[in-house]
Amino acid sequence: MVDGFRFQNSRCQCHFLSHSHADHTTGLTKNFTGGLIYCSPVTAVLLRKDMGMPPERVVPLQLESPISIDGVTVTLIDANHCPGAVMFLFQIPARQGSPAQLILHTGDLRWHSGMAEHPALKGKPLDVLYLDTTYALPKHVHPPQDVAIAQIIDVMQKSYKEEPRTLFVVGAYHIGKERAFLGAAKALQWPVWVAPEKLRVLGMLDLPASDMALLTTREADARIHVVFMGQGLQPDALEKRMNSSGDWARVVAFRPTGWSYRKHGLETRRQGPVTIYGVPYSEHSSFPELRDCVKRLRPKRLIPTVNASNPTASRRVEDRFADLMDLSGDRSRLDMYFAAAQQSPTAADCGHACDLGSPDLELRSTKRRCLGHANSTLNHLEPPPAVQGGWKGPPNSLPVQERCAPIPNGLVPASPEWDQKPGSTGMEYPGLVLDPASLGTIHGVAGSQQQTTQSPPL
Ligand SMILES: [Zn+2]
Repeated sequence: MVDGFRFQNSRCQCHFLSHSHADHTTGLTKNFTGGLIYCSPVTAVLLRKDMGMPPERVVPLQLESPISIDGVTVTLIDANHCPGAVMFLFQIPARQGSPAQLILHTGDLRWHSGMAEHPALKGKPLDVLYLDTTYALPKHVHPPQDVAIAQIIDVMQKSYKEEPRTLFVVGAYHIGKERAFLGAAKALQWPVWVAPEKLRVLGMLDLPASDMALLTTREADARIHVVFMGQGLQPDALEKRMNSSGDWARVVAFRPTGWSYRKHGLETRRQGPVTIYGVPYSEHSSFPELRDCVKRLRPKRLIPTVNASNPTASRRVEDRFADLMDLSGDRSRLDMYFAAAQQSPTAADCGHACDLGSPDLELRSTKRRCLGHANSTLNHLEPPPAVQGGWKGPPNSLPVQERCAPIPNGLVPASPEWDQKPGSTGMEYPGLVLDPASLGTIHGVAGSQQQTTQSPPL
């Protein structure tokens, strides 16, 4: 199971954790007894020393070193997200008439095209891609991280020139956003204040010694302060921070997140001596990057892990990438596109989980029903944008039940959809379940991580 601690069960003793953000560890406690957790070395340190997990439950795996676990070859690949974040590539051998499968679970991902050159991915057709679709709308076109960091540096330089007694404050997560403040600090060679607890955590992330050397816990020694993204970046808190020392005349703060992307300029908020800039520094892929990812990996199936809390939402996200996928072997999609286009009332099926009827797929659910069946309407059969021109008429209007083959189980029912806005409370997080007892059999393809905090995806 990948990032699916909410769905622990006695049949699954192999857990894979992509990274240590809270929305991926929901359901995991230091009293975990559900088997072993495989993760990157950095995440292993965080689980043991920061979260207090029993060391024997955590198995660090080296990146780029394929390893066989219960007959499945697993390779960890850097996800370019936060320290320790990895993607999992599963090579499942053929067995009992079922073909071999290559499955990539990205966890949280900031994609760049160089990733497609990874020897474990290049030229290897993916059967399934579990993709971090946090920013899967065309409007999300935030720039590369180095551009966003350059924006921070530029504002700092100009502000310092205007007023040398400017205190700079950068928001960060418990884990995450390190490049934003360290990138600026390195460029300007300004020390960075962090709280002692933050320094302790940063010391677990295997950061370069030159980065650690920029950090201090003495506020008076630093022009850049790092605070938590939430309360710490509120104007009143920033002004209080400024006034705690007589050294500063004003505060310029930065909220580094892709949600702050604006077509022109930086999101800016001013209150008294405090100015807060939203900088489009993101640790998740932009929409063009997601399109590039799917285009280069060309999966046969794509399973969105964010903004996919119900069948309609999931299909809507998937359809934004359908023109880039290899759908040649997907009868459900071919039926959907071509049969519907020919206005054949009987050829199309519901296009949902019921057409994944491989004997190797057991879809897990509390309600034991197909996602397609969960909808009483067929609005999910609308064609993706790429085939709009070929859409000749309404989809099949027969009741779904008449067109779906029986399936043994169903998918996890929907939870409140993440609405892509900071402050939203729900986020569905499909995971991947591998059954060790069945030597690589996929035993389920849906999981859910409910984000419970009032914050955007980490
Ligand atoms: Zn994350």
